[in-house]
Amino acid sequence: MVTSMNADIIVIGASPAGMMAARNASLKGASVILIEKKEQIGHPPHPANTFFKGMFDRAGEMVDSSYVIKELKGAKIIAPSGGTVVVESPAYFLDRTLFDEYYARQATQAGVDIRTDVEAHNVLRTEGNISVSTSNGVLTSKMVIVSDGINSKIAGLLGLNTMKHPNDIAWAMEAVVEAEGIGEPDLFEYYVGSIAPGWKCTYSPCGGNRATLGMYVRRHGRDVSDFFDRWVEKFKKLKGLDDLTIVQRSTGGDPIITIPDTTVADGVMLVGGAAGQSGIGYSMHAGQMCGDVAADAVARGDVSSKALSQYRKLWNQEYRTEYYLGRLALETLRKMTDREIDGMMSTFEGEDISFIQGDPLNKAIQTGLFMLRKNPKALLSYRALLRRR
Ligand SMILES: Cc1cc2nc3c(=O)[nH]c(=O)nc-3n(C[C@H](O)[C@H](O)[C@H](O)COP(=O)(O)OP(=O)(O)OC[C@H]3O[C@@H](n4cnc5c(N)ncnc54)[C@H](O)[C@@H]3O)c2cc1C
Repeated sequence: MVTSMNADIIVIGASPAGMMAARNASLKGASVILIEKKEQIGHPPHPANTFFKGMFDRAGEMVDSSYVIKELKGAKIIAPSGGTVVVESPAYFLDRTLFDEYYARQATQAGVDIRTDVEAHNVLRTEGNISVSTSNGVLTSKMVIVSDGINSKIAGLLGLNTMKHPNDIAWAMEAVVEAEGIGEPDLFEYYVGSIAPGWKCTYSPCGGNRATLGMYVRRHGRDVSDFFDRWVEKFKKLKGLDDLTIVQRSTGGDPIITIPDTTVADGVMLVGGAAGQSGIGYSMHAGQMCGDVAADAVARGDVSSKALSQYRKLWNQEYRTEYYLGRLALETLRKMTDREIDGMMSTFEGEDISFIQGDPLNKAIQTGLFMLRKNPKALLSYRALLRRR
């Protein structure tokens, strides 16, 4: 039976990674359909709305002022005792709807056929092609890129284990809040310790009287609302606020240190949260790699997992060390007591740590050497990693 193809590649999900994959594949000559179940791209907006310029630089993308609500100078990391380390690094608070619309436009201009209000129900491999059954009929292509987010239904249906440590998803609650002047500061604030087990709680000012407060917790279940409520109360005390209005809450999962596992199969690639790749900028970079490899594979007429594994190789070269070092750091943090965290962070308080530069491995080595010079005892706190819990 001869089946006519709708496109070379179907991308499922207009996540930042999916839009980059679609754009790049199309720029390299593949015909691409991107389907998105939302009625409109960017509506309602995803709660992920901040990133550091360095992440975008890695992806070779220019930040466009049209979607930036506020530019920030960096972040303060705050220990349980209140000790603070400032990391200066340009960062942005985004209008996430405008951001998504901007990259959807780029994809469209590159030739991608974006179809909204279309939900993928299943992906079936048939002779020499891939069928995607959707809420709007069946689409056929040579291969599919799955970018449907952290709870990837499609990866599950395909029987693919996409994360090495799925139990380590950081479950999150984030809220837009309003109070007099809370949008004004120009540093994000990240609080670590038992207030947010396994990761952090956040304060992200976005101008005027608006900010977001976030809570990211690992290994304490998906419902983190109790942790979040405690954070709101602590935040009010810290900032001396009697009134704080919660405008809107969102929840979700962040695969911050789950580490990607299977990201390719015959005729299938996974990218973004669906592939255990966290962060807007990093996901977009992965999307670029994915789209480039997909287009090359289609052009060669070989979409086998062997041919597509070039994507995994590229991702490993760029990010694997960093993700593993990140995992080591966050696992140590999860197991440390508040006192140990205070002791370790005091090493960096008031210090100019801008000399810590280079690739992730180099940064880790320089950090270790700095601790060895300044406060060798603090290095002992890394023993926490060996604890069983
Ligand atoms: C509360 C919260 C806050 C976060 N904040 C930040 C932050 O500030 N900065 C940062 O870098 N990272 C942040 N993260 C992490 C970030 O969300 C992700 O790493 C990043 O957005 C990658 O998105 P994604 O690939 O998971 O896909 P998503 O952005 O979830 O996109 C998936 C898309 O696929 C669509 N879709 C799903 N199923 C189907 C289907 N069957 N058919 C068609 N379409 C479908 C969805 O509608 C959606 O548009 C945050 C995470 C959470 C939970």
